[in-house]
Amino acid sequence: MKIAVYPGSFDPFTNGHLDILDRSLKMFDQIIVAVLINPTKTCLFPSSKRIEMINMVAEGYKNVKVAQFDGLMVDFCKKVGACSVIRGLRAVSDYEYELQLVNINKQLAPEIETVFLMSSVHCAFLSSSIVKEVARCGGKIDQMVPAVVASELEKHFNTTWKIKGKE
Ligand code: ADP
Repeated sequence: MKIAVYPGSFDPFTNGHLDILDRSLKMFDQIIVAVLINPTKTCLFPSSKRIEMINMVAEGYKNVKVAQFDGLMVDFCKKVGACSVIRGLRAVSDYEYELQLVNINKQLAPEIETVFLMSSVHCAFLSSSIVKEVARCGGKIDQMVPAVVASELEKHFNTTWKIKGKE
């Protein structure tokens, strides 16, 4: 069975992430979406909420598992028996960081391959950061993220806005 890990912060999971997940399922028997627990990174949603949302998005897929990990990605891959890591590439701006990551991982675990998928045209502008910014400003995000994520973002920013409004 060919297992791949799709790691990321997924703060939150967007239609860009979903596009990569859908396409990687055509190449592997199982994809493990692995939410990175990084204490040095400030996230909008706690990892438990991010995992809950991805689980809801992936409900209809039988070959997708959702997990969390900290430490080295290659160690997590070995633990779950994955042969590959999936990463998405949007613009040239993604390239340098991804190149660094792929080379470090290759050095740490030469047997694990990284597979890059270019973003589909309709997702090329999408990032978790831009989605959060649009949501924070009250813009429409329903074309950018799965419905469950849109509703969590709306809930979060409505609450924030109401609290601020009282100040
Ligand atoms: P990270 O903090 O590891 O970059 P992200 O959640 O931002 O985590 O992204 C996880 C992976 O998904 C990365 O490989 C990133 O390049 C990819 N990705 C994010 N958004 C898109 C998109 N719109 N199209 C294709 N790939 C994407």
